[in-house]
Amino acid sequence: MEPRLSLPGVWIPLRQEATIDKMIRPSILPQKICLPLQEKGNQIPLKPLVRPGSPVRKGQQVATPDKKESLPLFSPVWGEVVALEKSVLPWSTEPVDTIIIAPRKDEQLLPITIPKRDFSPQELRSLLFRLGVIDLDLELSGKEPPITLVINGCEVEPYLTSTERLLEEKTKEVVSGIEYLSRAVEAERAILVVSTENRGILEDLRDLIFSKKIELFLFPPRYPLDHPVLIRKVLGISEGKSIILELPKAVDSHEAITFRQPLTEVVVTVTGPALRNPQNIRARIGTMLGELVAQCDGFSIDPGMIIMGGPLRGQVIHTLEVPIMRNSRGFVFLPQRNPFLQTNCVFCGSCIDSCPQGLYPVFICEAVKSRNWGALKGLEPENCIFCGTCSYVCPAHIPHQKYLKKAKERRGS
Ligand code: SF4
Ligand code: SF4
Repeated sequence: MEPRLSLPGVWIPLRQEATIDKMIRPSILPQKICLPLQEKGNQIPLKPLVRPGSPVRKGQQVATPDKKESLPLFSPVWGEVVALEKSVLPWSTEPVDTIIIAPRKDEQLLPITIPKRDFSPQELRSLLFRLGVIDLDLELSGKEPPITLVINGCEVEPYLTSTERLLEEKTKEVVSGIEYLSRAVEAERAILVVSTENRGILEDLRDLIFSKKIELFLFPPRYPLDHPVLIRKVLGISEGKSIILELPKAVDSHEAITFRQPLTEVVVTVTGPALRNPQNIRARIGTMLGELVAQCDGFSIDPGMIIMGGPLRGQVIHTLEVPIMRNSRGFVFLPQRNPFLQTNCVFCGSCIDSCPQGLYPVFICEAVKSRNWGALKGLEPENCIFCGTCSYVCPAHIPHQKYLKKAKERRGS
């Protein structure tokens, strides 16, 4: 059913044409694998289980979480650990211990024996954790039944298409993964959210979820309607009784449970006008970005800006020496750096009209610039979800996020 209410967000050009219709390319064997022991968004490093000289096989666990706040890490190749060294990464201010593996050219394929049996919810959660897919116990902490599980298959970040491609090419696996996840968290409702742009696969999806107690919701491609805060708002579900997971997690869960294989590969969009041949690539975790760029036939023009993630919520990086991580979704290569020059606010009100959280970004920025901290109280910057919509619509190209971050810090959230 398509929501008809007044929806938050703005229409923005998605610029997905370069990759939206291209099949996902299979992973190649990279020249080296770099597995940092600290992932983005996680402060506690993993402990290595291997040392230089250790032979490793594909799927072997090579690092373990110290506390249950991150997931175990696995080798995506057969090979040998050649170093355990510090590496500089865009998501950490300190160098991070990294396992370097030299892959063997002759990959061995071992027969997979899969004993078929039904798992209890607790066993499913434990298996998904041990195979490095997701920590559902952490997701469930602080939540109260009845739980609604939402799988977010709506991708409205410009340029990125890995979620759409997975939905189209792995539709059965998505549905199977939702069933596993739903059982694992003992969900009363399971909802799949997809974009109205995915009309091509809706018939298949409807057939597949028919009789499976999975509800299908269509969201128009308005940015940032794929943000968990807004998904909950539109669906009318509370945070304390719901879990929202990105669609690739459903595919990963299906593969992990069905084949008892740990997570060693992810699908990433490598795209942007500076690339010769943008692609969605199934990449082994630990592959360096530079190798994926080579798979896209390199650059047609110099990239002035490299963005890890999408242009609205991603992070600008300055190197191709970045490994693909478990949570990587895409990289965008733009031809120019900062094509827009900041000018003065013209008080057009566009940032206010477009804010999905109903905030007054221009006034928050003014309060921060003038250090009028008292004014922040009524402006509620703590409710900002850092979607970047206000900056996107601003004709003066004011970098609101810089001020919003400061305002949020001042409000102690
Ligand atoms: S103020 Fe925050 S929530 Fe509102 S549009 Fe700007 S970044 Fe998004
Ligand atoms: S959109 Fe930009 S120019 Fe318009 S009011 Fe907001 S900050 Fe000022």
